[in-house]
Amino acid sequence: MQYIGNVIRPPSEAGSIILQVTVGCSHNKCTFCGAYKDIAFSIKSQQTIVEDLEFAGQHCHRQKRLFLADGDVLILSQTRLVALLTLIRKYLPWVLHISLYGNAKSIRNKSVSELLELKKLGLNRIYIGLESGNDSVLRSIRKGETAKSMIDAAQKVNECGIFLSVSILLGIGGISDSTRHAVDTANTLNIMTPRQIGALTFMPLPNTPLVRDVKNGNFILMTQQEILEELSTLVSQLNLKRCQFHANHASNYLPLTGRLPRDKYTIISAIAMAQQGAIATIPEHKRAL
Ligand code: SF4
Repeated sequence: MQYIGNVIRPPSEAGSIILQVTVGCSHNKCTFCGAYKDIAFSIKSQQTIVEDLEFAGQHCHRQKRLFLADGDVLILSQTRLVALLTLIRKYLPWVLHISLYGNAKSIRNKSVSELLELKKLGLNRIYIGLESGNDSVLRSIRKGETAKSMIDAAQKVNECGIFLSVSILLGIGGISDSTRHAVDTANTLNIMTPRQIGALTFMPLPNTPLVRDVKNGNFILMTQQEILEELSTLVSQLNLKRCQFHANHASNYLPLTGRLPRDKYTIISAIAMAQQGAIATIPEHKRAL
């Protein structure tokens, strides 16, 4: 398979075939994100995609899931997306689940009937990066979205019955906005009603604008104890009826996973035990993005 740049995919797509359709991110302005900073966004040629599908057709018989990389494949026109999913069916008829990262704007730009058409062709999971449900935090990190615009996108995905996975970023509001970030993010998630939440913890990356703020003292990194407090506040405010909660990404201080609402108080009590030192946390040098 021909991959340009680093392979970036959600943790839950570890076993999936990764088919790169776009290179980079169509937005590429978030101040904390270094994923594609040095790469101009582009769409790969049909010929390259077909060559990759032919390769996967010969070598990936055991994988039933496929992830469309990089950021925001949903920005493709409906005609191109339909052609792409049809090609996947032709070359990889055993693939049952197709997923992708969808920027909220690209989701909003699709009609419900267009999303349903993609679902019929196998698209059954969309990952959205919410990061925060607080508009002031979203503005400061240049996400290009508001809580309301993210909710609108999520509701469209839900309306189509496509599995919605939302990622959030602990510590991205800094200590001054921590409580508002936690409460507003939980409230936004309660309205978005994702089937899965993935919580990561902010780590400054060298090639990002936010690292400059960290270096010049304009953004104070939160301590482990402060991050755990923020996570506890967030989980305590969640009021979801059916959702998998994962905070087991390598950037987190305390690996956690559970089902909501069933495991809500188990998660909160695990966080409290970690705050008291009764559960070991991940040391700083072992954290990674
Ligand atoms: S966080 Fe997502 S939307 Fe923002 S620049 Fe990175 S890949 Fe693009």
